[in-house]
Parts: sequence; C-alpha cells; structure tokens
Amino acid sequence: MAMERAGAGALGLVLLVGLARPAWSEPPEVVVSIKPLHSLVASVMGDVGAPSLLLKGAASPHSYSLRPSDAKALNRAKLVFWVGEGMETFLVEPLEALSGQARLVEIAELPEIELLDAREGGAWEVHAHDDHDHEDHAEAEHHAEKHEHGDGHGHDETAHADEAKEHEDHAEAEHHAESQEHADGHEHAEAAHADEAKDHEHAEHAGHDEHDKNLHLWLDPHNAEVIVKAAVKALGEADPANAARYRANGEATLAELEMLDGELRSDLSPVKDTPFVVFHDAYHYFEAHYGLTAVGSISVDEGRAPGAKRLREVREKIVQSGARCVFSEPQFEPALVATVIEGTPARTGVLDPLGAERAEGPAAYGEIMRGLAASLNKCLAPQS
Ligand SMILES: [Zn+2]
Repeated sequence: MAMERAGAGALGLVLLVGLARPAWSEPPEVVVSIKPLHSLVASVMGDVGAPSLLLKGAASPHSYSLRPSDAKALNRAKLVFWVGEGMETFLVEPLEALSGQARLVEIAELPEIELLDAREGGAWEVHAHDDHDHEDHAEAEHHAEKHEHGDGHGHDETAHADEAKEHEDHAEAEHHAESQEHADGHEHAEAAHADEAKDHEHAEHAGHDEHDKNLHLWLDPHNAEVIVKAAVKALGEADPANAARYRANGEATLAELEMLDGELRSDLSPVKDTPFVVFHDAYHYFEAHYGLTAVGSISVDEGRAPGAKRLREVREKIVQSGARCVFSEPQFEPALVATVIEGTPARTGVLDPLGAERAEGPAAYGEIMRGLAASLNKCLAPQS
C-alpha cells in the first residue's frame, strides 16, 4: 500500500515536471532599451528568463549609438521594449530594419500611458532634446540663411510658404506611412513655423503626439504600472506556455510598485515645497506625481554645454526662486553645476534618472526611484 502510494507520487512528480517544461517553453529573446524599463520587464519575466539591456552604465539615451553587440541582440530578439523615437533616437533605424522579425512595444504609444508636455518658457525653455527636429528649428531661426533637408535638398529662407506646404504633404504621407518618413531621420533645419510644428505633431502617430512631449515617462509610478501590464500581455502572447507565470510575476510587481509609491510619497512630503533646479528636464513625471517644486533646468540640450547667457539666466533663476539645490546627473558633466551655482547660496546634489550606477535587474526600478527621493531629501533638507 505504502509502496503503491510512493510509486504514484513519483509518477505524479514526473508528470508535473514534464508539464512544466514542455519543449516549446524556451522564453523568447527579449531586448529592452534603458535600465528602468528593463527592470520592470525583468520583474515580469522573473525566473522564466532575463531580458537583454542595451544602454548600460552612464550612457544617455539622447546621445547613444548602437554597438555591434546591441545589433546582434536586436537581431535575435522576438520582443523589443523601448520608450519611443523621441527618446532612443539611436533605435529608430535598427528597429525599422527588424520589421516583422520582432514585436516592438513602444511605451510612449501605449494608450494608457500618461504623457506630459515638454515645458517651455523661462528656465524651462529649450529642453527640446525629446524633439531633436524642433530643437534644430529653433536654432536655425537665428542664423540660418540657407537650409538643408536631411533628405538632400536645400531651401531658401524666402521659400517658407512652399516649405509649409511641403510639410503638409509630408504630414499627410506620414499619416498613411506610419511615420516611416520621420524615422528615416530627415531633419528639418528651417525655422519653426507654428503650422509646421502642428503638421509634425499630427504626422507622428495615430495615438500620442510624441513631439512636444516629455518622454522620461518611466519616473511616474502610474506609468510603471502601465509598462508592467503591457509586458505581461506582450510576453504572454510571445510565449503562451509561460503566460501564467508572467501574469503572477506581474501581479507581484504591481503590488511592489504600489508599496514603493506610498513610501516615496511620505518620504518626499517634507521637501515638497522646497525649490530646486535640475540638469535637464528628466524629472517632470516624478515632480508632478509627488508634487515637488522644480523651478528650471540648466541644460539646453544634453549634447551641448549651455552658453554664457544661459548660465546667467539659470543663476538669476536660482537666486530669484530661492532654489536650495542644483542637481547634476551621472550622465553629464558635473563641473557645469559648480559653475552655475557660483555666487548663489544653492547646494549641489546628483539625480540619476537612469540608474547609471545600479545593477540591472528587477530591483533596479525601485532603487532608481528611491535614489531620486534620497538625493532630493538630502539636498533639500533645511540647513542645520
Ligand atoms: Zn533626458
């Protein structure tokens, strides 16, 4: 009797092991662009498998270029998660080349994602790195005589009416062509007409207008939840054999995110109303969600150092607003921040929106968010 039972048990175990590991349950190759996004996807995958991360260390998505090993990873990928063309510009062309080969999940395009407008005016002026074309427009306005389309033909300043027209055509074509046109990387160097900007906006996508949006969207825990749900869905569809595990991991991740959110809200409440200045406008989502008081940014564009005029403006802003702290980032030159605060009472701190120094993996997202809160708390605390 006892033997029989033991035998049945052993057989049962064999059957269970057999069911849990069918031949087709190999997890798909998953590639994710940046560390915070990677962390959320990794958390959903759990011990089913680990996604590959493209941007490591202190690389900035605004200026990164693809390495050969990245290209290889992308070629093997069945599933790719990225923020969107206004953030990881370096991925636009490689992802087009993958057409049909891998499923692409563009986070900025998810309907449930909440997108904030890029900020303009005063010390928030020109942080248009999320929109390289428009940045170029603004620059070109001041000194351009003759302009060159990336697609090869030049235009005279006087030809604006025609250009506007041409852009309308672009816009229409793009509506049908699913933004392939823009993805080709053509850059419009001519001055930014309101009309043009509008055309571009509408030309981009049927869902969100990525242009004029701030795409550092992962720093809002609500958006993190949307990302987790999207990962559960996309992974489950790419790998139905493990769908239940992705769902369970997703539920656990959502519960963790809710706890994290509550923790950060109470941690940050003492410094909510203390003004500060950031390096580049990467924290709009974090500030908006936790009701913080950022008063401006230093950087015109991550690729370039701000000029003397800009520095003067930021210094004025610091003094006027009583900003207690100016934050640099691991991705960019900290020396700049020292220059900016010269002659002001502000302190300096570091904010890291991407987790440059954190290990990749499921824990990174929480570490990045807690790291931001800790830096803010430390630098914004009243002087004792
Ligand atoms: Zn940025």
